[in-house]
This record gives sequence, C-alpha cells and structure tokens, in this order.
Amino acid sequence: MTSFQDLGVSAPILKALDAEGYTAPTPIQTQAIPIVLNGRDLIGLAQTGTGKTAAFALPILDRLAANRKHAGEKACRTLVLAPTRELAAQIGDSFRAYGRFLGLSTAVVFGGASLFKQKQALFRGVDVLVATPGRLLDHVSQRSVRLDKVEILVLDEADHMLDMGFIHDLRKIATLLPKARQSLFFSATMPPPIAELAAQFLNNPERVAVTPPSTTAERVEQAVIHVDQNKKQDLLHALLKDKTISRALVFARTKHGADRVVKKLESAGFEAEAIHGNKSQGQRTRALEAFKKGHARVLVATEIAARGIDVDDVSHVINYDLPNVPEQYVHRIGRTARAARSGVAISFCAPDERAYLRDIEKLTKQTVPVMETDFSLAAPKADERAPRPKGPAGRGPRQQQQRKPQAAKHHASEAHGKAHAKQGHAPSRARDEGDRRDRKGNSVWSNSGAPPKYRKQRKPTR
Ligand code: AMP
Repeated sequence: MTSFQDLGVSAPILKALDAEGYTAPTPIQTQAIPIVLNGRDLIGLAQTGTGKTAAFALPILDRLAANRKHAGEKACRTLVLAPTRELAAQIGDSFRAYGRFLGLSTAVVFGGASLFKQKQALFRGVDVLVATPGRLLDHVSQRSVRLDKVEILVLDEADHMLDMGFIHDLRKIATLLPKARQSLFFSATMPPPIAELAAQFLNNPERVAVTPPSTTAERVEQAVIHVDQNKKQDLLHALLKDKTISRALVFARTKHGADRVVKKLESAGFEAEAIHGNKSQGQRTRALEAFKKGHARVLVATEIAARGIDVDDVSHVINYDLPNVPEQYVHRIGRTARAARSGVAISFCAPDERAYLRDIEKLTKQTVPVMETDFSLAAPKADERAPRPKGPAGRGPRQQQQRKPQAAKHHASEAHGKAHAKQGHAPSRARDEGDRRDRKGNSVWSNSGAPPKYRKQRKPTR
C-alpha cells in the first residue's frame, strides 16, 4: 500500500501527520498529491469526508516550504476559497495542523467577524490565506489584501459556491489573480456550469475522481420513516430516547423550522443547539463547539449552515425534512460515517415529501429501507404516484439547475453593502450566510428587494 512517504511528502509534514494519527493516504490523497507536487493544475471530484483537504494542503505546504520567500505586504502565496465560514475555518485549522513544523503563516478571513483583526492578520503578508469569496472582495476593495502574488489557488466545494450564488465574486477574483499560477479545483459534482467555471480557472488540468459523486456513502446505514408532518417532533423525541444516538445532526428545511425544533427539544429535556444563517457568527461557533464537545447531543441545522461541518463521531444524521434536491441528501448523510467510521441516517418523510424520496432513490440507485415506529404511516405502495408539491419547492434538480442564477445583486465592499441595504436590498454580508431559499423554495434575495409595486385598482367607469 502507498504511504505518505512514497507520495513524496516531506519529513516535517510526515511528523505532523503522525501526530494527527493518519497512517495511510486516502484514495484522493494518493491520486492528487503527486500531481500537485509536480506543479500541475488539478480538477478533483470528491466530497467532504474523503480527505480532500489534506489532498491539497499537504503538497501545497510542501511546495511553499521548498521555496520559502516572503509573500510581500498584504499579499498571499496561496489563496484557498471556500463557500462557508465553517469550512474556511476548518481548512485554516488543517493547514496549521499539517504545517505545524514548517513555520509557515496562515490567515483565515470570512464574513461576520471583525474586519479589523483580519486586516491586522493580512498586513505583513501570509503564506496561506483561506477566505470566503465575499469577505475576500471586501478586503480587496478596502485595499487590505492584494492578490497579484498568488502562486497557488484552490477553489474548494465549487458546486456549493455556485449554489450560494458566488459566481460573480469568483469571476471578479479571477481577474485579480496572476495568470502564471497553479490552480486546484474541487467539487463533489461536475454539471456543465461547474465545468465551465473550472475551464476559466484551470490550465490543462489533470483530473482525479473518487467515489462517483451521486453514490450514497456506502458505510451509512439508511432508513426512512413515513410520518405525518405534525408528528415529526414527537417521533424525534421518541428516537432520541435511544442512547445509541450519541451525537445527532438534524436537518430542518428552514431557519425558523430549526429554531422551533430546538425549542421543543429543550422543553422536553434534550440538550440541543441550532445553527443557521440567522445566527450571529458567535452563536454559530458556540453551537458547533457545544456539539463537538458533547455538551449538546443534538445540533439542528439548515442545509447550507451545515456544509463542510466536520465533526467526528456524528452517530446519526436525521432528516427532519427531506431535501427537495436529491444531491443534498447525499451531502447530508455524508456528515456521518466520516473517516472510516460507520453511521446511521434516518429520514422523516411526510406524505407530501414522497416525491423527494423517489428522487433520492433514483439518484442513489438504492431503495431506502422503511423503518416502522409507533408514529409510522403506512408506506406507499411501489406503484403509487407521489404527487409533487406545487410551486418552486417541488422543482426537480434539473429544473432547478436551469433557473437563472440569482446572485447578480452582489457588491464587493461591506460599505457598499450597507448602502445597498438602505435601499431595501439584502446586505452583502448575507452572501456568506447561505439558506437563500424560503420554505416555498423562493430565493430570499428576491424577497429582500424592494416591495412589489401594485397598480392602483381603478374603479370601473360606468
Ligand atoms: P475532508 O474530506 O478533508 O473534510 O476530511 C475528512 C476527515 O478525514 C477529516 O476529519 C480529516 O482529519 C480526516 N482525514 C483526512 N485524511 C486522512 C487520512 N489519511 N487518514 C485518516 N484520517 C484522515
């Protein structure tokens, strides 16, 4: 079996990996590390949980250490772009952990945190900068960072970047980068818009892929419970009586839904926290910490707030609401069974979510086994029609992809964002916060604009 040493990883990094307890590279690491060490561009098709962070961080650290130089004031030698704050923070932590014996500098910038402190961290220049696109552009417009010294660019979770409407920010960032650079691009899926984006950033890339993106993680044991919408909370309480559910990540469709579930869990005596885009950064960090440390057994999250969350030992993922985009199901259940552990995913399916279940089964080419409980409704028969909910929430993934991106209302600077907000638009900071669709699947952007103008009804003339 290949070892990290065989892949050409240098001694100080091997020592750090030993301290992390990594004994052998994962498949994405085996494939990607030699390519990146050789200075080639790379497209990696891989989801979180496959070890993709180390697949790019290790060879990048190696290359930076082999050719040490000062980036220059307010500049960075490596730029890593990630869609969410939590993922950016985690990537920063990984660079620090793997590079602890190298003496390289790392800074992380994302929205919702002090700009001033971030400016201080950037002032003398850094080897590695991890950033969310919106906040990076805020720094660019305030001249607290310059991107003309970037030697290596990483675009992580490109598909989530597009989902979150970062396309315009990414295009802008691309114009600020030097042409001569190494670029690495990671995505769990590669539909045409992502391939187009990749083509803009990469130069004659090598491709590596691990686990076909739409295959449900095999180690996850899955079950579905058919239940009435108004019985879901009682069902959750009943399930949580089972102590084998040691750490449960519960997915709700909306922010208010997540808050409601947490409130009711707390009144029933369960320790629970919520994480979603309406929470401040401090609240999000505290909730995640409480969950990681085991103070809260349950973390209730909305889809996007949970992206990239890497918590070990999530024993159960519970889909309180089924996602209307089947790929999201695969991402969600991938939050358990990380790094060779096993896990369980239980989905609650109300009668009007049955079409979503069908979509998921079609995508994963698996039938999700039905679990019977005291709250169960009769499972639908195999040939029973599953009516699709009306309105945008009922859109299938293909129709959703064809929707025009809704992100045109982005502005680079926070200041501009505030002026924009005064005009009745969403502040630019909201870009980092995700959860851009409401319960009906409408874009929150379009709701946050100026109220629609209604024409006065003329009285009929006689
Ligand atoms: P990622 O896909 O980068 O989010 O990584 C998923 C998890 O796998 C993280 O908790 C990593 O610390 C862990 N991990 C990454 N590479 C290895 C490895 N070679 N051996 C063991 N664990 C790993």
